[in-house]
Amino acid sequence: MIALSLAEVASAVGGRLAGADPQVRVSGPVEFDSRKVGPGALFVAFPGEKVDGHDYAAGAVRAGAVAVLGTREVPGVPMVLVDDALAAMGRLARAVVDRLPGLTVIGLTGSSGKTTTKDLIAQLTARLGPTVAPPGSFNNELGHPYTALQAGPETRYLVMEKGARGVGHVRYLCDVVPPRISVVLNVGVAHIGEFGSVETIALAKGELVEALPADGLAVLNADDPLVDAMAARTVARVIRYGEAAHADVRAEDVTLDDRGRPAYTLVTPEGTAPVRLGLTGRHQVSNSLAAAAVARELGMPLAETATALGALGLVSTRRMDVFERADGITVIDDSYNANPASMAVALRALAGIGRERRTVAVLGYMAELGPFERDGHAEVGRLTAELGVDRLLVVGEPAAPIHEGATSVGDWGGESVLLTDQAAAVEVLRSELRPGDVVLVKGSRYRTWEVADALRADAA
Ligand code: ATP
Ligand code: MG
Repeated sequence: MIALSLAEVASAVGGRLAGADPQVRVSGPVEFDSRKVGPGALFVAFPGEKVDGHDYAAGAVRAGAVAVLGTREVPGVPMVLVDDALAAMGRLARAVVDRLPGLTVIGLTGSSGKTTTKDLIAQLTARLGPTVAPPGSFNNELGHPYTALQAGPETRYLVMEKGARGVGHVRYLCDVVPPRISVVLNVGVAHIGEFGSVETIALAKGELVEALPADGLAVLNADDPLVDAMAARTVARVIRYGEAAHADVRAEDVTLDDRGRPAYTLVTPEGTAPVRLGLTGRHQVSNSLAAAAVARELGMPLAETATALGALGLVSTRRMDVFERADGITVIDDSYNANPASMAVALRALAGIGRERRTVAVLGYMAELGPFERDGHAEVGRLTAELGVDRLLVVGEPAAPIHEGATSVGDWGGESVLLTDQAAAVEVLRSELRPGDVVLVKGSRYRTWEVADALRADAA
Protein backbone atom coordinates (compact mmCIF):
# COMPACT_ATOMS: atom_id res chain seq x y z
CA MET A 1 0.00 0.00 0.00
CA ILE A 2 1.05 3.62 -0.23
CA ALA A 3 2.57 5.21 2.87
CA LEU A 4 0.04 7.15 4.94
CA SER A 5 0.58 8.95 8.24
CA LEU A 6 -1.56 7.82 11.16
CA ALA A 7 -3.24 11.25 11.00
CA GLU A 8 -4.20 10.49 7.38
CA VAL A 9 -5.37 7.01 8.33
CA ALA A 10 -7.53 8.39 11.16
CA SER A 11 -9.02 11.00 8.88
CA ALA A 12 -9.69 8.45 6.09
CA VAL A 13 -11.49 6.05 8.41
CA GLY A 14 -13.24 8.70 10.53
CA GLY A 15 -11.47 7.49 13.66
CA ARG A 16 -9.46 9.06 16.44
CA LEU A 17 -5.90 8.39 17.58
CA ALA A 18 -5.18 7.22 21.11
CA GLY A 19 -1.58 7.01 22.31
CA ALA A 20 -0.38 7.22 18.70
CA ASP A 21 1.93 9.74 17.01
CA PRO A 22 0.00 11.33 14.11
CA GLN A 23 3.21 11.79 12.09
CA VAL A 24 4.23 8.13 12.13
CA ARG A 25 3.66 6.52 8.75
CA VAL A 26 2.13 3.18 7.90
CA SER A 27 4.54 1.81 5.30
CA GLY A 28 3.81 -1.89 5.50
CA PRO A 29 0.76 -3.99 4.79
CA VAL A 30 -2.60 -3.81 6.54
CA GLU A 31 -3.11 -7.16 8.29
CA PHE A 32 -5.79 -8.68 10.47
CA ASP A 33 -3.79 -11.84 11.16
CA SER A 34 -1.13 -10.85 13.70
CA ARG A 35 1.15 -13.63 12.43
CA LYS A 36 1.53 -11.75 9.14
CA VAL A 37 2.44 -8.43 10.76
CA GLY A 38 5.86 -7.02 9.93
CA PRO A 39 7.62 -3.66 10.31
CA GLY A 40 5.53 -0.65 9.30
CA ALA A 41 2.24 -2.58 9.25
CA LEU A 42 -1.16 -1.49 10.45
CA PHE A 43 -2.84 -4.26 12.42
CA VAL A 44 -6.64 -4.42 12.31
CA ALA A 45 -8.22 -5.92 15.43
CA PHE A 46 -11.63 -7.43 14.79
CA PRO A 47 -13.82 -8.30 17.74
CA GLY A 48 -14.40 -11.94 16.74
CA GLU A 49 -16.78 -14.44 18.30
CA LYS A 50 -14.12 -16.83 19.48
CA VAL A 51 -10.94 -14.78 19.18
CA ASP A 52 -10.75 -11.07 19.87
CA GLY A 53 -8.14 -9.36 17.70
CA HIS A 54 -7.48 -6.86 20.48
CA ASP A 55 -5.85 -9.67 22.45
CA TYR A 56 -3.17 -9.76 19.75
CA ALA A 57 -2.69 -5.99 19.53
CA ALA A 58 0.36 -5.79 21.80
CA GLY A 59 1.99 -8.72 19.99
CA ALA A 60 1.37 -7.06 16.64
CA VAL A 61 3.13 -3.91 17.85
CA ARG A 62 6.06 -5.99 19.08
CA ALA A 63 6.22 -7.54 15.59
CA GLY A 64 6.57 -4.08 14.06
CA ALA A 65 3.03 -2.72 13.60
CA VAL A 66 3.05 1.07 13.92
CA ALA A 67 -0.51 1.12 15.24
CA VAL A 68 -3.64 -0.95 15.70
CA LEU A 69 -6.99 -0.11 14.14
CA GLY A 70 -9.61 -1.32 16.58
CA THR A 71 -12.76 -0.58 18.51
CA ARG A 72 -11.37 -0.23 22.03
CA GLU A 73 -8.20 0.97 23.70
CA VAL A 74 -5.49 -1.50 24.62
CA PRO A 75 -3.05 -0.25 27.29
CA GLY A 76 0.33 0.71 25.88
CA VAL A 77 -0.75 0.19 22.26
CA PRO A 78 -0.97 3.08 19.75
CA MET A 79 -4.52 2.92 18.46
CA VAL A 80 -6.71 4.26 15.68
CA LEU A 81 -10.12 3.96 17.33
CA VAL A 82 -13.26 3.41 15.26
CA ASP A 83 -16.81 2.13 15.81
CA ASP A 84 -16.67 -0.54 13.13
CA ALA A 85 -13.32 -1.99 12.07
CA LEU A 86 -14.68 -3.64 8.91
CA ALA A 87 -16.25 -0.43 7.63
CA ALA A 88 -13.04 1.41 8.56
CA MET A 89 -11.00 -1.01 6.49
CA GLY A 90 -13.32 -0.32 3.57
CA ARG A 91 -12.85 3.45 3.96
CA LEU A 92 -9.10 3.05 4.19
CA ALA A 93 -9.05 0.97 1.00
CA ARG A 94 -11.07 3.68 -0.73
CA ALA A 95 -8.64 6.37 0.45
CA VAL A 96 -5.74 4.34 -0.91
CA VAL A 97 -7.23 3.66 -4.37
CA ASP A 98 -8.29 7.32 -4.61
CA ARG A 99 -4.63 8.25 -4.18
CA LEU A 100 -3.56 6.01 -7.08
CA PRO A 101 -4.58 7.83 -10.26
CA GLY A 102 -2.57 5.44 -12.45
CA LEU A 103 -4.59 2.45 -11.26
CA THR A 104 -7.27 0.78 -13.38
CA VAL A 105 -9.77 -1.19 -11.32
CA ILE A 106 -11.49 -4.10 -13.02
CA GLY A 107 -14.47 -5.57 -11.17
CA LEU A 108 -16.30 -8.78 -12.01
CA THR A 109 -19.45 -10.40 -10.87
CA GLY A 110 -21.69 -13.25 -11.95
CA SER A 111 -23.24 -16.40 -10.60
CA SER A 112 -20.51 -18.74 -11.85
CA GLY A 113 -16.95 -18.28 -13.02
CA LYS A 114 -15.93 -15.15 -11.12
CA THR A 115 -12.75 -16.56 -9.65
CA THR A 116 -11.86 -18.42 -12.85
CA THR A 117 -12.32 -15.30 -14.98
CA LYS A 118 -10.66 -13.02 -12.42
CA ASP A 119 -7.60 -15.27 -12.70
CA LEU A 120 -7.76 -15.15 -16.52
CA ILE A 121 -8.01 -11.35 -16.59
CA ALA A 122 -5.19 -10.97 -14.08
CA GLN A 123 -2.95 -13.20 -16.21
CA LEU A 124 -3.61 -10.94 -19.20
CA THR A 125 -3.18 -7.64 -17.35
CA ALA A 126 0.06 -8.92 -15.80
CA ARG A 127 1.47 -8.82 -19.34
CA LEU A 128 0.59 -5.13 -19.50
CA GLY A 129 1.73 -3.98 -16.08
CA PRO A 130 1.96 -4.77 -12.36
CA THR A 131 -1.29 -6.38 -11.29
CA VAL A 132 -2.89 -7.03 -7.91
CA ALA A 133 -5.59 -9.70 -7.72
CA PRO A 134 -6.74 -11.64 -4.69
CA PRO A 135 -5.95 -15.32 -4.30
CA GLY A 136 -9.02 -17.55 -4.56
CA SER A 137 -12.42 -15.94 -4.05
CA PHE A 138 -11.76 -13.19 -1.48
CA ASN A 139 -14.80 -11.30 -2.72
CA ASN A 140 -16.59 -9.96 0.36
CA GLU A 141 -16.47 -6.91 2.64
CA LEU A 142 -13.23 -8.15 4.17
CA GLY A 143 -11.35 -9.74 1.25
CA HIS A 144 -12.16 -6.82 -0.94
CA PRO A 145 -10.52 -3.97 1.02
CA TYR A 146 -7.77 -6.33 2.12
CA THR A 147 -6.82 -6.96 -1.51
CA ALA A 148 -7.17 -3.32 -2.55
CA LEU A 149 -4.85 -2.27 0.27
CA GLN A 150 -2.09 -4.25 -1.42
CA ALA A 151 -2.08 -1.87 -4.37
CA GLY A 152 0.77 0.63 -4.40
CA PRO A 153 2.08 3.40 -6.66
CA GLU A 154 3.59 0.82 -9.02
CA THR A 155 0.31 -1.10 -9.41
CA ARG A 156 -1.44 -0.60 -12.76
CA TYR A 157 -4.30 -3.07 -12.52
CA LEU A 158 -6.46 -4.20 -9.63
CA VAL A 159 -8.72 -7.13 -10.54
CA MET A 160 -11.53 -7.67 -8.08
CA GLU A 161 -14.20 -10.34 -7.82
CA LYS A 162 -17.41 -8.93 -6.33
CA GLY A 163 -19.67 -11.49 -4.73
CA ALA A 164 -23.34 -10.60 -4.29
CA ARG A 165 -25.29 -12.14 -1.46
CA GLY A 166 -28.09 -9.63 -1.59
CA VAL A 167 -29.24 -6.37 -3.12
CA GLY A 168 -26.87 -3.53 -2.15
CA HIS A 169 -23.91 -5.79 -1.53
CA VAL A 170 -22.12 -5.13 -4.84
CA ARG A 171 -22.95 -1.43 -4.51
CA TYR A 172 -21.15 -1.38 -1.17
CA LEU A 173 -18.11 -3.17 -2.62
CA CYS A 174 -18.07 -0.63 -5.47
CA ASP A 175 -18.08 2.21 -2.94
CA VAL A 176 -15.03 0.63 -1.35
CA VAL A 177 -13.21 0.09 -4.65
CA PRO A 178 -14.92 1.84 -7.58
CA PRO A 179 -14.38 -0.06 -10.85
CA ARG A 180 -13.52 1.55 -14.18
CA ILE A 181 -14.20 -1.67 -16.04
CA SER A 182 -17.09 -3.85 -14.86
CA VAL A 183 -17.54 -7.37 -16.18
CA VAL A 184 -20.83 -9.22 -15.64
CA LEU A 185 -20.56 -12.90 -16.52
CA ASN A 186 -23.96 -14.48 -16.03
CA VAL A 187 -27.05 -14.57 -13.87
CA GLY A 188 -27.92 -18.00 -12.63
CA VAL A 189 -29.49 -19.44 -9.55
CA ALA A 190 -26.34 -19.47 -7.38
CA HIS A 191 -27.26 -18.27 -3.87
CA ILE A 192 -30.90 -18.02 -4.97
CA GLY A 193 -31.99 -19.06 -1.49
CA GLU A 194 -30.89 -15.68 -0.24
CA PHE A 195 -32.28 -13.69 -3.16
CA GLY A 196 -35.65 -15.27 -3.92
CA SER A 197 -35.65 -14.90 -7.71
CA VAL A 198 -33.33 -14.59 -10.72
CA GLU A 199 -34.68 -11.08 -11.33
CA THR A 200 -33.46 -10.03 -7.88
CA ILE A 201 -30.11 -11.64 -8.61
CA ALA A 202 -29.90 -9.62 -11.84
CA LEU A 203 -30.83 -6.50 -9.90
CA ALA A 204 -28.00 -7.12 -7.44
CA LYS A 205 -25.36 -7.97 -10.04
CA GLY A 206 -26.26 -4.99 -12.22
CA GLU A 207 -25.11 -2.72 -9.40
CA LEU A 208 -21.63 -3.34 -10.79
CA VAL A 209 -22.38 -1.44 -14.00
CA GLU A 210 -24.45 1.21 -12.22
CA ALA A 211 -21.30 2.10 -10.27
CA LEU A 212 -19.32 2.93 -13.43
CA PRO A 213 -18.35 6.50 -14.34
CA ALA A 214 -19.19 7.87 -17.80
CA ASP A 215 -15.65 7.13 -19.02
CA GLY A 216 -15.85 3.57 -17.70
CA LEU A 217 -16.65 0.40 -19.60
CA ALA A 218 -19.29 -2.26 -19.01
CA VAL A 219 -18.29 -5.66 -20.38
CA LEU A 220 -21.48 -7.67 -20.75
CA ASN A 221 -22.20 -11.27 -21.74
CA ALA A 222 -24.34 -11.05 -24.87
CA ASP A 223 -25.38 -14.70 -24.50
CA ASP A 224 -27.17 -14.09 -21.20
CA PRO A 225 -30.32 -11.97 -21.74
CA LEU A 226 -30.41 -10.76 -18.13
CA VAL A 227 -26.80 -9.57 -18.43
CA ASP A 228 -27.28 -8.17 -21.93
CA ALA A 229 -30.15 -6.01 -20.62
CA MET A 230 -27.87 -4.41 -18.02
CA ALA A 231 -26.65 -2.05 -20.76
CA ALA A 232 -29.63 0.13 -19.89
CA ARG A 233 -28.39 0.52 -16.32
CA THR A 234 -25.09 2.25 -16.97
CA VAL A 235 -23.84 5.64 -18.14
CA ALA A 236 -20.60 4.00 -19.28
CA ARG A 237 -19.72 2.64 -22.71
CA VAL A 238 -20.78 -0.96 -23.28
CA ILE A 239 -18.99 -3.80 -25.01
CA ARG A 240 -20.57 -7.22 -25.42
CA TYR A 241 -18.88 -10.57 -25.67
CA GLY A 242 -20.22 -14.01 -26.45
CA GLU A 243 -21.29 -16.20 -29.31
CA ALA A 244 -24.41 -14.18 -30.13
CA ALA A 245 -24.26 -12.39 -33.49
CA HIS A 246 -24.50 -8.96 -31.86
CA ALA A 247 -21.45 -9.50 -29.59
CA ASP A 248 -18.52 -7.14 -30.29
CA VAL A 249 -15.95 -9.65 -29.08
CA ARG A 250 -17.14 -12.97 -30.39
CA ALA A 251 -16.21 -16.63 -30.64
CA GLU A 252 -16.99 -18.39 -33.89
CA ASP A 253 -16.45 -22.00 -34.97
CA VAL A 254 -16.01 -23.36 -31.45
CA THR A 255 -14.60 -26.88 -31.27
CA LEU A 256 -13.41 -29.03 -28.36
CA ASP A 257 -10.48 -31.44 -28.46
CA ASP A 258 -10.58 -34.88 -26.84
CA ARG A 259 -9.56 -33.38 -23.52
CA GLY A 260 -12.40 -30.88 -23.57
CA ARG A 261 -10.19 -27.91 -24.44
CA PRO A 262 -11.90 -25.35 -26.66
CA ALA A 263 -10.56 -23.74 -29.80
CA TYR A 264 -12.33 -20.93 -31.63
CA THR A 265 -11.96 -17.95 -33.93
CA LEU A 266 -11.83 -14.72 -31.98
CA VAL A 267 -13.73 -12.05 -33.87
CA THR A 268 -13.33 -8.40 -32.86
CA PRO A 269 -13.87 -5.03 -34.56
CA GLU A 270 -10.11 -5.09 -35.30
CA GLY A 271 -10.12 -8.44 -37.05
CA THR A 272 -10.00 -12.15 -36.30
CA ALA A 273 -7.47 -14.50 -34.74
CA PRO A 274 -7.42 -18.21 -33.93
CA VAL A 275 -7.49 -19.14 -30.22
CA ARG A 276 -6.65 -22.50 -28.72
CA LEU A 277 -7.21 -22.71 -24.95
CA GLY A 278 -5.31 -24.93 -22.57
CA LEU A 279 -8.25 -24.87 -20.16
CA THR A 280 -10.96 -27.51 -19.91
CA GLY A 281 -14.65 -27.01 -20.55
CA ARG A 282 -16.80 -25.22 -23.08
CA HIS A 283 -17.67 -22.56 -20.48
CA GLN A 284 -14.08 -21.33 -20.77
CA VAL A 285 -14.98 -19.93 -24.20
CA SER A 286 -17.24 -17.44 -22.46
CA ASN A 287 -14.80 -16.71 -19.63
CA SER A 288 -11.89 -16.20 -22.03
CA LEU A 289 -13.96 -13.88 -24.23
CA ALA A 290 -14.68 -11.71 -21.19
CA ALA A 291 -10.93 -11.57 -20.55
CA ALA A 292 -10.26 -10.75 -24.21
CA ALA A 293 -12.75 -7.87 -24.10
CA VAL A 294 -10.93 -6.41 -21.09
CA ALA A 295 -7.51 -6.83 -22.73
CA ARG A 296 -8.82 -5.07 -25.85
CA GLU A 297 -9.98 -2.11 -23.77
CA LEU A 298 -6.55 -1.92 -22.16
CA GLY A 299 -4.87 -1.73 -25.55
CA MET A 300 -3.56 -5.26 -26.02
CA PRO A 301 -3.23 -5.98 -29.77
CA LEU A 302 -5.48 -8.75 -31.09
CA ALA A 303 -2.68 -11.16 -32.06
CA GLU A 304 -1.09 -10.82 -28.64
CA THR A 305 -4.44 -11.38 -26.95
CA ALA A 306 -4.99 -14.57 -28.94
CA THR A 307 -1.54 -15.85 -27.99
CA ALA A 308 -2.02 -14.85 -24.35
CA LEU A 309 -5.37 -16.64 -24.18
CA GLY A 310 -3.66 -19.82 -25.32
CA ALA A 311 -1.14 -19.53 -22.50
CA LEU A 312 -3.71 -19.07 -19.73
CA GLY A 313 -3.48 -21.57 -16.90
CA LEU A 314 -5.47 -22.50 -13.83
CA VAL A 315 -4.58 -20.41 -10.83
CA SER A 316 -7.22 -21.22 -8.22
CA THR A 317 -7.57 -24.92 -7.53
CA ARG A 318 -10.47 -27.37 -7.72
CA ARG A 319 -12.09 -25.52 -10.60
CA MET A 320 -12.15 -27.83 -13.61
CA ASP A 321 -8.76 -29.07 -12.54
CA VAL A 322 -8.08 -32.07 -14.80
CA PHE A 323 -5.43 -34.62 -13.95
CA GLU A 324 -4.41 -37.83 -15.66
CA ARG A 325 -3.39 -40.69 -13.44
CA ALA A 326 -0.59 -43.01 -14.45
CA ASP A 327 -3.13 -45.85 -14.59
CA GLY A 328 -5.04 -44.10 -17.39
CA ILE A 329 -7.89 -42.73 -15.29
CA THR A 330 -8.73 -39.06 -15.89
CA VAL A 331 -10.07 -37.06 -12.95
CA ILE A 332 -11.87 -33.73 -13.29
CA ASP A 333 -11.64 -32.08 -9.89
CA ASP A 334 -14.35 -29.41 -9.91
CA SER A 335 -15.08 -29.84 -6.25
CA TYR A 336 -14.65 -26.23 -5.15
CA ASN A 337 -18.29 -25.29 -5.49
CA ALA A 338 -21.48 -26.15 -7.31
CA ASN A 339 -24.78 -24.74 -8.45
CA PRO A 340 -27.06 -26.06 -11.20
CA ALA A 341 -25.37 -23.96 -13.93
CA SER A 342 -21.83 -24.96 -12.99
CA MET A 343 -22.93 -28.60 -12.57
CA ALA A 344 -24.23 -28.43 -16.13
CA VAL A 345 -20.98 -27.12 -17.61
CA ALA A 346 -18.95 -29.67 -15.67
CA LEU A 347 -21.22 -32.58 -16.72
CA ARG A 348 -21.00 -31.46 -20.34
CA ALA A 349 -17.21 -31.40 -20.07
CA LEU A 350 -17.30 -34.91 -18.59
CA ALA A 351 -19.53 -36.18 -21.38
CA GLY A 352 -17.29 -34.49 -23.98
CA ILE A 353 -13.99 -35.82 -22.67
CA GLY A 354 -15.58 -39.22 -22.10
CA ARG A 355 -17.30 -39.53 -25.46
CA GLU A 356 -15.39 -42.72 -26.22
CA ARG A 357 -14.76 -43.68 -22.60
CA ARG A 358 -16.66 -44.78 -19.51
CA THR A 359 -17.83 -41.73 -17.55
CA VAL A 360 -18.40 -41.50 -13.81
CA ALA A 361 -19.92 -38.49 -11.99
CA VAL A 362 -19.52 -38.12 -8.24
CA LEU A 363 -21.94 -35.38 -7.28
CA GLY A 364 -22.70 -33.83 -3.91
CA TYR A 365 -25.19 -31.41 -2.43
CA MET A 366 -25.59 -27.88 -3.80
CA ALA A 367 -26.05 -25.33 -1.04
CA GLU A 368 -28.00 -22.07 -0.99
CA LEU A 369 -30.76 -23.02 -3.45
CA GLY A 370 -33.61 -22.26 -1.04
CA PRO A 371 -36.99 -23.08 -2.57
CA PHE A 372 -35.27 -24.36 -5.73
CA GLU A 373 -33.36 -26.97 -3.79
CA ARG A 374 -35.40 -30.01 -4.83
CA ASP A 375 -35.86 -29.05 -8.46
CA GLY A 376 -32.29 -27.82 -8.81
CA HIS A 377 -30.91 -31.16 -7.68
CA ALA A 378 -33.40 -33.21 -9.69
CA GLU A 379 -32.57 -31.24 -12.83
CA VAL A 380 -28.87 -32.01 -12.40
CA GLY A 381 -29.71 -35.70 -12.04
CA ARG A 382 -31.81 -35.67 -15.20
CA LEU A 383 -29.05 -33.91 -17.13
CA THR A 384 -26.52 -36.50 -15.97
CA ALA A 385 -28.70 -39.25 -17.42
CA GLU A 386 -29.55 -37.32 -20.58
CA LEU A 387 -25.87 -36.75 -21.28
CA GLY A 388 -25.41 -40.51 -21.08
CA VAL A 389 -23.02 -40.51 -18.12
CA ASP A 390 -22.42 -44.20 -17.35
CA ARG A 391 -22.16 -44.20 -13.59
CA LEU A 392 -23.48 -41.70 -11.04
CA LEU A 393 -22.49 -41.67 -7.39
CA VAL A 394 -24.63 -39.25 -5.40
CA VAL A 395 -22.96 -38.34 -2.14
CA GLY A 396 -25.05 -37.66 0.96
CA GLU A 397 -28.75 -37.79 1.72
CA PRO A 398 -29.33 -34.03 1.09
CA ALA A 399 -28.30 -34.65 -2.54
CA ALA A 400 -30.81 -37.51 -2.96
CA PRO A 401 -32.97 -35.64 -5.53
CA ILE A 402 -30.00 -35.88 -7.96
CA HIS A 403 -30.32 -39.65 -7.73
CA GLU A 404 -34.10 -39.46 -8.15
CA GLY A 405 -33.77 -37.12 -11.13
CA ALA A 406 -31.34 -39.44 -12.89
CA THR A 407 -33.34 -42.61 -12.29
CA SER A 408 -36.50 -40.87 -13.54
CA VAL A 409 -34.99 -40.79 -17.05
CA GLY A 410 -36.48 -43.92 -18.55
CA ASP A 411 -34.09 -44.79 -21.35
CA TRP A 412 -30.87 -44.06 -19.48
CA GLY A 413 -28.36 -46.86 -19.90
CA GLY A 414 -26.36 -45.79 -16.84
CA GLU A 415 -26.69 -46.55 -13.18
CA SER A 416 -27.03 -44.34 -10.10
CA VAL A 417 -26.45 -45.02 -6.43
CA LEU A 418 -27.07 -42.84 -3.38
CA LEU A 419 -24.21 -43.09 -0.89
CA THR A 420 -24.02 -41.89 2.70
CA ASP A 421 -20.76 -39.97 2.52
CA GLN A 422 -17.44 -39.27 0.81
CA ALA A 423 -15.76 -42.34 2.26
CA ALA A 424 -18.43 -44.58 0.76
CA ALA A 425 -17.90 -42.93 -2.62
CA VAL A 426 -14.16 -43.48 -2.43
CA GLU A 427 -14.76 -47.15 -1.61
CA VAL A 428 -17.04 -47.64 -4.62
CA LEU A 429 -14.60 -45.82 -6.90
CA ARG A 430 -11.69 -47.94 -5.71
CA SER A 431 -13.53 -51.11 -6.55
CA GLU A 432 -15.10 -49.97 -9.82
CA LEU A 433 -12.64 -47.67 -11.61
CA ARG A 434 -10.80 -49.12 -14.59
CA PRO A 435 -8.06 -47.66 -16.79
CA GLY A 436 -9.56 -45.28 -19.33
CA ASP A 437 -12.41 -44.09 -17.11
CA VAL A 438 -13.13 -40.37 -16.71
CA VAL A 439 -14.37 -39.21 -13.30
CA LEU A 440 -15.93 -35.86 -12.41
CA VAL A 441 -16.02 -34.86 -8.74
CA LYS A 442 -18.25 -31.90 -7.89
CA GLY A 443 -20.28 -30.49 -5.02
CA SER A 444 -20.79 -27.32 -3.03
CA ARG A 445 -17.77 -27.47 -0.77
CA TYR A 446 -18.99 -29.85 1.98
CA ARG A 447 -15.76 -31.74 1.68
CA THR A 448 -16.65 -33.25 -1.70
CA TRP A 449 -13.00 -32.60 -2.48
CA GLU A 450 -12.05 -35.43 -0.14
CA VAL A 451 -13.10 -37.76 -2.95
CA ALA A 452 -10.86 -35.95 -5.45
CA ASP A 453 -8.00 -35.96 -2.95
CA ALA A 454 -8.38 -39.70 -2.42
CA LEU A 455 -8.27 -40.25 -6.22
CA ARG A 456 -5.13 -38.12 -6.36
CA ALA A 457 -3.51 -39.93 -3.43
CA ASP A 458 -4.32 -43.35 -4.92
CA ALA A 459 -2.43 -42.39 -8.04
CA ALA A 460 0.65 -41.23 -6.15
P1 ATP B 1 -18.06 -18.35 -5.85
O1 ATP B 1 -19.42 -17.71 -5.86
O2 ATP B 1 -17.99 -19.60 -5.03
O3 ATP B 1 -16.94 -17.39 -5.56
P2 ATP B 1 -17.22 -18.19 -8.62
O4 ATP B 1 -18.27 -17.39 -9.33
O5 ATP B 1 -15.99 -17.48 -8.25
O6 ATP B 1 -17.85 -18.93 -7.37
P3 ATP B 1 -15.52 -20.15 -9.88
O7 ATP B 1 -14.91 -20.54 -8.60
O8 ATP B 1 -14.71 -19.42 -10.87
O9 ATP B 1 -16.90 -19.38 -9.62
O10 ATP B 1 -16.07 -21.44 -10.63
C1 ATP B 1 -16.85 -22.39 -9.94
C2 ATP B 1 -17.32 -23.41 -10.94
O11 ATP B 1 -18.26 -22.81 -11.84
C3 ATP B 1 -16.25 -23.94 -11.87
O12 ATP B 1 -15.55 -24.96 -11.27
C4 ATP B 1 -17.03 -24.39 -13.08
O13 ATP B 1 -17.63 -25.64 -12.83
C5 ATP B 1 -18.17 -23.39 -13.13
N1 ATP B 1 -18.00 -22.30 -14.10
C6 ATP B 1 -16.92 -21.54 -14.36
N2 ATP B 1 -17.17 -20.63 -15.32
C7 ATP B 1 -18.47 -20.78 -15.65
C8 ATP B 1 -19.35 -20.13 -16.58
N3 ATP B 1 -18.93 -19.10 -17.33
N4 ATP B 1 -20.63 -20.57 -16.64
C9 ATP B 1 -21.07 -21.57 -15.88
N5 ATP B 1 -20.30 -22.25 -15.01
C10 ATP B 1 -19.01 -21.85 -14.89
MG1 MG C 1 -15.20 -17.13 -6.38
